[in-house]
Amino acid sequence: MADTIFGKIVRGELEADVVYQDDLVTAFRDIQPKAPVHILIVPNDPVETVAHVEPRHEAALGRMFTVARKLAEEEGIAEDGFRLIVNTRDQAGQEVYHLHMHLLGGRSLGPMLSR
Ligand code: AMP
Repeated sequence: MADTIFGKIVRGELEADVVYQDDLVTAFRDIQPKAPVHILIVPNDPVETVAHVEPRHEAALGRMFTVARKLAEEEGIAEDGFRLIVNTRDQAGQEVYHLHMHLLGGRSLGPMLSR
């Protein structure tokens, strides 16, 4: 797949507010936050979209959830609640084709979808 800005952030080639990194995933603050806490969690080895996911990606995708839980606790939003979003392709508004999980919280997030 083509390199993206998130690949550059994972490799440290593009500046970002990185809050967590390990051998499988990287997490950094969204540059245009939609909530008081808005963090993106990405697999270090890029996958374009959920529609490209294969069994070999399971370790990194599973790690994204444990990191989401850890960051939600550290950010103080675990108790009140938070939302995880993975936009996939055009109709979901995916902008960056390096699969990423949005971790959102810190305010009431309203209904899941608006009509
Ligand atoms: P999506 O629409 O699900 O593809 O989300 C892409 C997200 O990436 C948006 O919320 C953008 O604000 C965010 N974003 C784009 N460029 C950067 C960047 N350089 N650093 C951090 N977040 C970014």
